[in-house]
This record gives sequence, C-alpha cells and structure tokens, in this order.
Amino acid sequence: MNDPFLDDLTELRARSLHRRLREMTLSPDGSVAPVGRPMINFASNDYLGLSGHPALRDAAKAAIDEYGVGAGASRLVCGTLPIHLRLEETLARFKGAEAALSFSSGYAAAHGALSALAGPDDVVILDKLAHASLIDAARSCRATLRVFPHNHLGKLESLLQWAHAEHPGARTIVCTESVFSMDGDRAPVRDLVALKKKYGALLLLDEAHAVGVIGRNGRGLAHECEVAREVDILMGTMSKAIGVSGGYLAGRHSLVDLLINRARSFVFSTAQPPALAAASLASLELLMSDEGEQRRLTLWQNIRHLAAQLPKAPGPSQKTPRGAGSAIFPWIVGPEALAMEVAARLADRGFLAPAIRYPTVPQGSARLRLAVTSRHTPDQITALGQAIAGLAGALRG
Ligand SMILES: *Cc1c(COP(=O)(O)O)cnc(C)c1O
Repeated sequence: MNDPFLDDLTELRARSLHRRLREMTLSPDGSVAPVGRPMINFASNDYLGLSGHPALRDAAKAAIDEYGVGAGASRLVCGTLPIHLRLEETLARFKGAEAALSFSSGYAAAHGALSALAGPDDVVILDKLAHASLIDAARSCRATLRVFPHNHLGKLESLLQWAHAEHPGARTIVCTESVFSMDGDRAPVRDLVALKKKYGALLLLDEAHAVGVIGRNGRGLAHECEVAREVDILMGTMSKAIGVSGGYLAGRHSLVDLLINRARSFVFSTAQPPALAAASLASLELLMSDEGEQRRLTLWQNIRHLAAQLPKAPGPSQKTPRGAGSAIFPWIVGPEALAMEVAARLADRGFLAPAIRYPTVPQGSARLRLAVTSRHTPDQITALGQAIAGLAGALRG
C-alpha cells in the first residue's frame, strides 16, 4: 500500500527535524513529568507557577457553575459574557492601556491584529526573530512584507525610509517582541517607539514572555520603559506566565473598536471559554497583588542564580547558555542532531529541557531552551548548572 505521508516523515527524520508528542503528567502543584519518569521541568512558560494556583482553579470552577463550559457563539453573536468584559477591563488596567480585547489564543490575537489593520496596500515590517504567529499573520494579511535583522535599529530605519518613499499613504506596522521567545533577549523598546513616531508608523509589541516577568507586577517591558501608552498595539498571551490560555490586544479605545469589527479571528471564532476568562482574570488580580509581586521577585532570584551557575565560555562562544534579561536561557549548540543529543543527556540526568529546532529557529542554530520559574528551588538550579557545566565542557573538548 502506498502511504502518501511516509516520504515526508522519512525526510524529516533524516534531517533530525522529526518531532513527536510526549505524554506528560501535570500535577496540581504545577510540576510536570514524562509519564512514569519524574523530571525537573525547565521547559515550561508557566514562569510564576500560576497554572495550578488554587485561586485560578477556584475561579475556573465557579465560572463553569455559573456559565457552563462553552461560550456558545462568537463574541459578536451571543458569546460576550460579563466575565469577558471584566477580564478585558482588567487587562487594560494591567497593561496601562485604554482598552483591551481577548482572543482564544495569542496566535489568534496576532492574526486578528494584522487582519484588521493591514491589507495589500500596507507595509508590515518584522524583526527577523519575530514569533511564527506574527509571520503567519503578516503573510495572510497580504501586506508588503519586509524583515529587519534582529534588533537592528539602523536597518529598521532604512526600511521605514523606504516605506515612506515607495508606499506613500500606506499604513506601516512594525511588529516585534519585547522578550524574544527562543533567545530570551529584549527589544530596544524606547528606541523602537522613537523610530516609529519619526516615520508615522505603528508599533505592535508582542509581550508574550515579558508579562509576569518584567516590570512592576509583571506588566511587561513597555510598562517598565514607561512607553505603554505609546505602543499602538500591545499584544500578549494568557498562556504563559498568566498560566491559563487565550490571547489579547490592548491599546486605544478606537483600536479595540476597530478590532471588534475587523479582526477575523475575533469575528469568526467562538469566544474564549468562560472558565478560562475567569481564571485569567483571577491570575491578573494575583499578579497585581503582593503575592504576585513576591513570586516575580523569587523568579528573578532564580534567574540570577542560574546565570551565576552557568559556565563562562572563553570568547564569544555559543557552546554555553547565555541570558538573564528574562526567564529564558538559550543554549545554542548548532546542529539539530547535537541539540537532540544534549537534550537526551540532560534528560538522563533528570532535567526536562527541550531541544528547539527548525522551523522554530533558523536551520543550524538548534538549541536548548532553558526556562526558569519561581517554583524551582535553589538546589534544583544548582544541579542544572552542574549538569550543563559538565556537558558544555564535553562539547568544547
Ligand atoms: C506563545 C507565543 C504566542 C502564541 O500564544 P498562544 O497563546 O500560545 O497562541 C505568540 N507570541 C509569542 C512570542 C509566543 O511565545
């Protein structure tokens, strides 16, 4: 029998790019492990350990009792429940924006933004390392697409000049992340705001990995840089440090009004389930409390602890992890097969740390992506540091 899919799979395997799903246990305390094999988890984006928090669980259960499980329709039909509006008011307050709109995922929020704001006559300019949700959204809105080298303000400025000259009257949207998901470094947010203003462009800032981690109460990098009101479109997800699931866009009232009318992933998709909206709301309230801020400070102690543990490679070698601008430490080892091997060796030592490969990162820059959370103990981090030092030494040697 001829299997039409097998050849594609064989090719992926030959390039060390095949992925498979691993069944994991997830405990209410937030710990996760492959079935039958306890491991210390350095793979999660649940940076503050909120996904299992009693306040979020209780809020979700209460919302199920009040509203049932599904929202029943899209937001514009009859899916707008009081819990969605309360969540959006709180999101706006948290982000320091006039208004916010929730989506079923961060991926959907990216699509929503660009489907509402850009069309074939417009220009979208992306950082080279922008998340796939932004790339896919930019492609599907059919705007003219340009990419600038990662965080390169000079190249961005020449693209803005080019757009100004070649596409007069077009809307130009610069899209980037405040903390980069696979590199853990930060965007120069203040400089980006200055540039977009100079050229009359709009700025979309994806704060997926900054929220909960950076800025007072985890409000994000734009807030920390005191430019939250100057970023035209603040994007984020409720699936990372917020510990639930869903996405959002925040900005001016007029932005949100336009999104309600034109964002295709909002108009043509069922509203976020009420239990998830309720849990997200509880999570935001927690982030804004002393307990939330305490968790964030613990997270930063852990981030600094791991940074201090990591071997200092001589010169600008990538054979050792780097980071500390966020909870993400990338360890770029290069070849896909090598990244798989390093991940397997860490797994042998009891650490879950994912190998990240193409197409998530460029080919030949496969890496381990280590993510620290507030729930790690100093001993766990020390042990990871020692395991890395041993493996990094072996790689260099
Ligand atoms: C995870 C992620 C998204 C997508 O969010 P989901 O809620 O998981 O769909 C978007 N942008 C970045 C940078 C992300 O890391």
